[in-house]
Amino acid sequence: MSNHHPIIGLEIHIQLKTKSKMFCTCDNDIENKQANENICPICLGHPGVLPAINKKAVEWTVLTGLALNCVIPKETKFDRKNYFYPDLPKGYQISQYDMPIAVNGSLEINNHKIRIKRVHLEEDAAKNLHAEDKSYSLVDYNRGGTPLMEIVTEPDIISPEEAGSFLRELRLIMRYLGVSNADMEKGELRCDANVNIKLGNSKTPIVEIKNLNSFKMVERALAYEIERQIDEFAVLKKQKGKVTRGWDDRKGITREQRVKEEAHDYRYFAEPDLPPLRLKKIREAMQAKMPELPFEREKRLKEEYGLGPEDISALVNNKALGDYYEEVVSEAAAENSNQKVYKLAANWVVTELQKLLRLNKIGVSHLKITPENFAEFINIVSRGEINSSVAQIVLKEMFERGADPSQVITEKNLGQVSNTEELDVIINEVIKENPKPVEDFKSGNEKTLMFLVGQVMRKTGGKANPQVVQDLFRKKLI
Ligand code: ZN
Ligand code: MN
Repeated sequence: MSNHHPIIGLEIHIQLKTKSKMFCTCDNDIENKQANENICPICLGHPGVLPAINKKAVEWTVLTGLALNCVIPKETKFDRKNYFYPDLPKGYQISQYDMPIAVNGSLEINNHKIRIKRVHLEEDAAKNLHAEDKSYSLVDYNRGGTPLMEIVTEPDIISPEEAGSFLRELRLIMRYLGVSNADMEKGELRCDANVNIKLGNSKTPIVEIKNLNSFKMVERALAYEIERQIDEFAVLKKQKGKVTRGWDDRKGITREQRVKEEAHDYRYFAEPDLPPLRLKKIREAMQAKMPELPFEREKRLKEEYGLGPEDISALVNNKALGDYYEEVVSEAAAENSNQKVYKLAANWVVTELQKLLRLNKIGVSHLKITPENFAEFINIVSRGEINSSVAQIVLKEMFERGADPSQVITEKNLGQVSNTEELDVIINEVIKENPKPVEDFKSGNEKTLMFLVGQVMRKTGGKANPQVVQDLFRKKLI
C-alpha cells in the first residue's frame, strides 16, 4: 500500500457492572431477565420523575480515567443529548458533552502511545427487537438507563492489528479494575471504528464503521475499509463529510448506511435535574484504591517469580488464573519458597490446569480445587513423592471432586513405591525376564538401563521412583 497511511480512531462503549442502573435503583443485572422486567418510572422517562447519580459509576469512570493516564478535571456535569428514537423513552439521553469525567490520557500498545481523548459517563438506550416476519418492532427497556462508559481515542492507531491489540488490552484493564467484564460478544464492550487514508496532503473522508461485535470483526472490517479507500483514493479524496458504513460479517464487506439528517445536531444542554460534581475527593479515593494493572503484574511475575514469557502472558491475560496462581504459590511457599516451586506451580497451573478447564469448559471461578490443596499438590510433586504421570491422575481427581491430594494418593494407592524390599522383588523379576538387555547393560550399554527402568515403571503402574530404581539396578548388576 506504498505511502498511503491509515488513520484509525476508536469509540468504545463499556457497560459498567454496578448493582443498580445509572440514574435509578433498578437492578443493573439484566442477563436472563424477562423483557421489561427491570424497569421503573425513572428509566422509562415518565413525566415528573427525578434521576439520581449512581456514585459507583462515577467512581469507576474516574478509576478508569486514572488507569488510562487521564487528567481528572475539578468538575464534571451531565448533559442532555436530544434525539428521538423508540429505544429512548425520554427523547434524550443523559450523557456528557463538554465536561467529561476524564481527558487527555494514553495507553501504550507495544511501545506505541495511543492518546485517549476523553472518558465520559452516560446511560444506555433500550433494545429494539425487530421480528423478521412481523410488521412491527418491540422494545425491551431492561437495558435502558444502565451505566455506559464511553472511551474515545485520538486517531493515533495505524493498523487493524494495533486496533485489535488496543481493544484486548483495554478489555484486560477493565477486568483488572473490576468495573466490567468487557465481553464484546455479550455487548459489554462495543466499538465503532473511524478510519480514513492519508497520502501526502490528501485524505479520504472519515468512515465510521458500525456493527462490530468481536475483535476479529474490528480487525477484518478495518482491513477491508483500508483497502477499499486506497483503491478508490482518487475519487474519495475529493469528497467531504463523515460517512457511516455498516460491517456485513457474512459477506466480509462494509456497506454505506442511510445518512441520518443533521446527525450531530443533538442540541446538547446541561441536565437541569442533576447537579455538577466536584471530583477532587473521588479522584483521591480512586488513586488510593488503584489495583495492580496488567503491565505491573507482568513486571512482577518476571521479577518476583522468575517466570518465562509464555507463563507470564497466560497468567496476565487471564486475571482469574493469575490470581489463582498467586494464591497457590503464596500457600506453597510457606513450605518451599524458591524459584523452582514458582516455576513448577506455573507449569501445572498454566499447562495442566488450563487444559482441564478448557476440556470441561469451565472458568477458574468454578474450579473445585482450593489454592491450599493445589499448593499441597505442588509440594508433593516438588518433593518427588509422585512422578509426573501419577501427578496427572491425582490432579484430574482433584479437579473432578475437589479432593485433597494426599487423600487421593492414599485412596487410589498412588503413593510411590520407594520401599526397597518391594522394589527388589519387581527388579529381580525384570532381570529374569530380560536376559539380553541385562547382558548388554553389564557390558557397558547405558541405554539399556532406561529400558529396564521402564519395565519396572510399567509393573508398578508408574509408581516407582525412577532414581531409586536406577540405583538398585546399578547395585545389583555392576
Ligand atoms: Zn429504573
Ligand atoms: Mn455514547
